[in-house]
Order: sequence, then C-alpha cells, then structure tokens
Amino acid sequence: MNAIIFGAPGAGKGTYSTRMQNQLGVDVIAMGDIFRESVKQNSELGNKVKSYVEKGALVPDEVVVEVLKERLSRIPAGKGFLLDGFPRTIAQAETLQKIAKIDVILMLDVPDQIIVERLTSRRLCKNCGTVYNIRFLKPKVEGKCDKCGGELYLRADDNETVIRNRLQVYKTQTEPVVEYYKKTGIPFIVNVTKSIDQPPEPMVEHMMAELKKLNLA
Ligand SMILES: [Zn+2]
Repeated sequence: MNAIIFGAPGAGKGTYSTRMQNQLGVDVIAMGDIFRESVKQNSELGNKVKSYVEKGALVPDEVVVEVLKERLSRIPAGKGFLLDGFPRTIAQAETLQKIAKIDVILMLDVPDQIIVERLTSRRLCKNCGTVYNIRFLKPKVEGKCDKCGGELYLRADDNETVIRNRLQVYKTQTEPVVEYYKKTGIPFIVNVTKSIDQPPEPMVEHMMAELKKLNLA
C-alpha cells in the first residue's frame, strides 16, 4: 500500500505515521527528514541538496524528485510507503503519479483552534527535549522534567500568531494539491479531530478499518 498523509503542522502527522507504520508495515518517508539525512551523506545527490540548503534557497523540484526516487528505490520489494511532506505542489504531484502508484490519501482534519491550544500548551525540557503538555501530559512536578529534572519551556514559535500564520501558509499551499488528488479519484480517508485531548488510538483504529474496507490493510 502506498499512501500520502496530509495534515497541518501540529495536526499529529508524526504520531499517526509512526503508529500506522507499525500496523501496516510500510516505510514512512518524511521529506524533511530525508533532506536532513541526505545533507549528512557525502553522496553526489547529498552535496547537491546541501548547496541549496546552505544558501537558504528552496531546493528545486527536480532535485526533490531525485531525492524521493532514491529513497523509494531503497524500499524492500512488496513493502509500501507512507509519504509525509510531499507533494507540496501540483507539479510535484504530477511527477509523483509518474514514479509511483498512490492507493489512498490520509487526511488529518484538525480545527485550527485545537492546534493552537495543543501547541501553546506544549512544553519542552531544556535539558533532554522531552515533550509535555500542561493540559493533558503534565509533568509530575510543575515546570520540571520527569526524566531529568530539567526546566520546561515554551518554544518561542509556539505562540498563537506564529502558529496561525503557519496554518495559513499550509492551507494556501496544500489546498490546490488536495483538489488535484480529489480529481484523480484516489480514495480519501478523512480523520476529524473533535477535541484537544483526543487520544490517537481510536483514530488509528478508524483509519485501519477504512483501509481494510479498501482492501489496503
Ligand atoms: Zn528532561
């Protein structure tokens, strides 16, 4: 099964991808991670990516596609993938159609207000990076990390203005791509989050049940 997962920043794509990866036995391909990996590698392609990243320039589509193709070529035969963070443009989606068959689109539909509340109540340990949430994943002692006793802080870009701005950018960028996929007839599985403290398990179960209906799980 080959799938694409769409969801705004803060919608929980990482959480769902990891859980689905275990249940479906697919490779999660997160474009952001792949770029970071390929920059570290001393390959020809890695150096090409590095030349753009170091200049702070946008990596052009043909290089993005090359990186993706290289990663897809390393998926064991018979195994599928879950693509996160790609495609971001219609041109990229059209190219993807030529290099892989997409069976299903997973959509995480989380209201902006829930993302804002979730992220502004997030706290990180200064020392070890463990993530807490002062609403539903509280540390045992207020302001202190359970694991190492480090001080917890709110990331500077986890403030409402920055988050709402990020969400707007995401929407402007993604909506045309989602429209493109609707026209292709590829099935969509939409997951709607209704409350801030909704645990991921029932959502994963819902997605798995829908995938089974489509004979993809
Ligand atoms: Zn800590």
